Amino acid sequence: MSNILDVRNLETFYGPVMALRGVSIEVPEGQIVTILGANGAGKTTLMKTVSGALAPQKGVIYFQGERIDGHEPDSLVTRGLAHVPEGREVFPFLSVAENLAMGAFTRRDKAEVARDTEMVYDYFPVLKERRDQTAGTLSGGQQQMLSIGRGLMSRPSLMLLDEPSLGLSPLLVQEIFAIIRRLNKEQGVTILLVEQNAQVALQCADYGYVLEIGRIMMAGPTDKLLDSDDIREFYLGHG
Ligand code: ATP
Repeated sequence: MSNILDVRNLETFYGPVMALRGVSIEVPEGQIVTILGANGAGKTTLMKTVSGALAPQKGVIYFQGERIDGHEPDSLVTRGLAHVPEGREVFPFLSVAENLAMGAFTRRDKAEVARDTEMVYDYFPVLKERRDQTAGTLSGGQQQMLSIGRGLMSRPSLMLLDEPSLGLSPLLVQEIFAIIRRLNKEQGVTILLVEQNAQVALQCADYGYVLEIGRIMMAGPTDKLLDSDDIREFYLGHG
């Protein structure tokens, strides 16, 4: 099994603040891998560094076998790496359909784009019902769905999802994670998932890493992590 993403010894700074202190992770093609960690651990920084929004000071990133550290985000989207950022950053004054079209901005194959729009609507029927509604008037859950849908419009082989559960009701969280699993199985999208909600992330993913203050402190298959006393105590809230 080859790794679609290989991150080695990554160091990322904000000015003098060292947010990533030598992070190495591997994401095998076809899997769902999760990064767990408390507030401020560096999860978002890791995602932004992989997607090209931040440049690392040290370390290398391989995507599909080629070095991508320091590359521009747009060029990575074209190559199949989509980043769905934390906080559902939809274009609030554009309609649902227009937001999805923005996700396909790198593509010229109109017929295929139309087919992919229908594919997104199949996964998220509520977006189809509301295709002409402005995105800013959608509920939080619907905006999260739109954010993921927009990411899918670039036809990613790897999708980075930053805290899709944030601010959603438990029922909606279950719904969104069920769709994430289906996208992985049915569309073959490899997923790197950042979560503070360890319970749902460990149920969804194949493999997990625990990030603490910029360092990977633990890693393993998710069934092993779910059995670990430390994970149970610190991340699942029961010992
Ligand atoms: P959260 O769940 O709150 O998003 P996180 O694990 O994603 O947390 P990061 O946002 O990656 O954590 O932050 C990692 C560290 O970098 C924290 O100490 C944070 O204070 C710091 N940091 C993040 N963004 C900046 C910034 N723009 N300028 C300075 N320091 C920052």
